Amino acid sequence: MTTSAPRHSIIDTRRPQMFPTLEPAEIERVRQFGVVRSYGVSEALERVGEVGPGLTIILAGKVDVTQHDTSGRREPIGTYGPGAFIGELAQLAGRPALVDAYAPEPVEALIISPDRLRALLIAEAELGEQIMRAMILRRVGLLETGSGGPVIVGRAQNGDVLRLEGFLRRNGHPHQRLNPETDQEANALIERFHIDPGQLPIVLCPSGQLLRNPSEIELARCIGLVGPIDPNRVYDVAVVGAGPAGLATAVYTASEGLSVLVLDCRAFGGQAGASARIENYLGFPTGITGMALMARAYNQAQKFGVEMAIPDEVIGLQALSQSDKDQFVLKLSNNERVSARSVVIASGARYRRLEVENLDTFEASSVHYWASPLEGKLCSGQEVALVGGGNSAGQAAVYLASQVAKVWLLVRGPDLESSMSRYLVDRIAGLANVELITRAQVNGLEGGDGILAAIRWRQGTSMHEVRRPIRHLFLFIGAEPNTDWLSGSGVALDPKGFVLTGADVAGDRRPMETSRKGIFAIGDVRSGSVKRVAAAVGEGAQVVATLHGFLAADDRAPVVATRP
Ligand SMILES: Cc1cc2nc3c(=O)[nH]c(=O)nc-3n(C[C@H](O)[C@H](O)[C@H](O)COP(=O)(O)OP(=O)(O)OC[C@H]3O[C@@H](n4cnc5c(N)ncnc54)[C@H](O)[C@@H]3O)c2cc1C
Repeated sequence: MTTSAPRHSIIDTRRPQMFPTLEPAEIERVRQFGVVRSYGVSEALERVGEVGPGLTIILAGKVDVTQHDTSGRREPIGTYGPGAFIGELAQLAGRPALVDAYAPEPVEALIISPDRLRALLIAEAELGEQIMRAMILRRVGLLETGSGGPVIVGRAQNGDVLRLEGFLRRNGHPHQRLNPETDQEANALIERFHIDPGQLPIVLCPSGQLLRNPSEIELARCIGLVGPIDPNRVYDVAVVGAGPAGLATAVYTASEGLSVLVLDCRAFGGQAGASARIENYLGFPTGITGMALMARAYNQAQKFGVEMAIPDEVIGLQALSQSDKDQFVLKLSNNERVSARSVVIASGARYRRLEVENLDTFEASSVHYWASPLEGKLCSGQEVALVGGGNSAGQAAVYLASQVAKVWLLVRGPDLESSMSRYLVDRIAGLANVELITRAQVNGLEGGDGILAAIRWRQGTSMHEVRRPIRHLFLFIGAEPNTDWLSGSGVALDPKGFVLTGADVAGDRRPMETSRKGIFAIGDVRSGSVKRVAAAVGEGAQVVATLHGFLAADDRAPVVATRP
């Protein structure tokens, strides 16, 4: 099984912060946010796979909390008494529970629903911090063991297994994997559900539902990550893209009382979520992984009541009236619609593909556009090839060098200095297992059954072709704007497809406003923006003032609304 608890589990190292006990005076302060409920012996307070009532503070009696192993057996997490609370990030977002909680004796508890919990976290700063920290650490603990999430049955190298694992990992959702070649439980499940080996992978959701090689959206729906959108609701702001720019807008608009929906077709974090280590973001002198930085922003946005629709892909945008003054409608790939008074385009950019024959045949299993611990583990001890000379390629090379036997770094230019930051160039120079090949061109991929066996490249004008037995190819060769979905929307783009804003479209436009009033663009997708995390976050914050100006001028919403 893939997801076993590490030797030094967070439960051992951070237990007091994960499971704090509230003082009687603190409980009195939070009583106004909840309702008191009694539970009889053996009654469930939470069930895995079901949306529970919210955060539960035990007032009297004891509660047993357990998690499921891959065979469905319950393993104890702990027994908690008065002052303890049951809940983690699922309770903040109103999503299905990842643990079971039962009353072995009569229990009286204070139940705080997700919206009241968010109000508590904001109103009670210190106590809120204690509760929020405990909820985040509990989720980290569940991610360590994979408990409470779906079980994927399939081989680690299988392209669809990688796709599903990558999706769950990037969305911070626990999961477990069973390998039919090594795990007996995998074969028990295959027999129980009469699965032909050719139909793998299968996914067993906590609700008991079985999915056969599902799409990310099917899986997300099954585990309650994403639900239907209320077609009658009109949001103050709809944000397309949950990268750093979109999440920053979400945090700053929601914290000022505007209603916000953020949509993303993949996962929160955008490109930044794929960065192995961000070292140039203000305030993190030792660097931080992109995933950790983005998970903080995502949780922060949820704390302020931002609604998330992930994964949901936006495929069209239209204004409902000729004057552009009324509301906007976003069309989603699943035929749902979102209405909003303003729209922020934060759909960023996507990786570029290499022009080489057969690339698509190997993309599921052997060609990677991210270098995260998942890929690191997959390539552990092997030789890999990495194409690209920019900072993202440099970071990936440094990270992979710590995981693999050798990194062949293939760049088109004559050196690294002209395209990569000095600190990365120096670091790469100090790595004995990274070999730089300049003026390189990949001109052949060999292999079978979707698995790469060898890569061929040429250096400079030499006709000599190098052939290496390499099973994993990493591509970091730049990005193109995600603006296809804007076709027909009337939003003006520059010749490369980036969104034009402000004075670039008309003299009367607000900063970051597009050619259509009420539609704004920020971050990497915006023409002329600085393609960096800090710049994206800055634009996400800056656009909020502009949004207020727009909404107030058109009398669409109060300048600063108060939360209920
Ligand atoms: C591997 C890597 C490492 C990097 N390292 C650094 C670094 O160390 N420091 C630094 O400053 N910068 C770094 N960058 C650049 C940085 O990540 C980007 O500048 C930043 O993420 C841009 O943020 P954004 O929110 O504008 O767009 P993105 O991060 O691109 O996010 C856009 C989001 O929109 C979503 N989306 C797109 N189209 C749709 C649609 N139609 N419907 C719904 N959702 C949609 C995407 O799924 C994505 O999540 C790195 C980039 C990469 C790829």
